[in-house]
Amino acid sequence: MKYHSITKADMVNGEGLRVVLWVSGCDHNCPGCHNQLTWNPSNGEEFTAETKAEIMAELDNDWCDGLTLSGGDPLFKQNRPLIAELVKEIKEKYPTKTIWCYTGYTWEELLKMQKKDLDIETILNNIDVLVDGRFVLKDAFKNLNYVGSSNQKIISVPNSLAEKRVVLHIETVRKG
Ligand code: SF4
Repeated sequence: MKYHSITKADMVNGEGLRVVLWVSGCDHNCPGCHNQLTWNPSNGEEFTAETKAEIMAELDNDWCDGLTLSGGDPLFKQNRPLIAELVKEIKEKYPTKTIWCYTGYTWEELLKMQKKDLDIETILNNIDVLVDGRFVLKDAFKNLNYVGSSNQKIISVPNSLAEKRVVLHIETVRKG
C-alpha cells in the first residue's frame, strides 16, 4: 500500500487530537474531489514498518485520541489487507483510543461486501467510527461535522453492528 502523508495533532478529521494516515488509491471518481492526487494507488510512498512505527509513536502520546484513516480510500481493494492488519493491531494495543475511517463506500455497500471479503469484516470489527459515502458536490456546504457533503454519515460501527441498523456517532449537519 502507498500513502501520501501522515498528519499529527489533527483536529478536523475526527474528534480530539488525532494522527491521520492519508492513503493512496481511490476509484470512486467523485466530481469535485479535493484529493485527486491520491486516486492513483501507485502515487506516494510505500507504507513500511517505519511508517507504522511513526503512527504508533503518535498513539503513545497521552494527548493523542486516536487514528483516522483517510485518503484516497482506505477501503480501496488493494489497501484492505494492510488496513485490516493495522486496525486490528492498533485496537489490541490501544483499546481506549478510537479509530475513524473515511470511505467512499456506503455502510449498506460495505455490509454486502463483508460477506465475501474477510478484510472488510476485520476492518468493521476493529474501527469505532465510519464516515461513509461519496463526496457529492451539490450537497457540500458549511456547518457540517467532519464531512465534505451532507449525504455522508458519521456512523458508530460497534453500535450499528450490534443493533443491525445504522446508529450515528454524531449528526452530520451541525445544529445552530
Ligand atoms: S471517495 Fe474521497 S478521495 Fe475518493 S474520489 Fe470521492 S472524495 Fe475523492
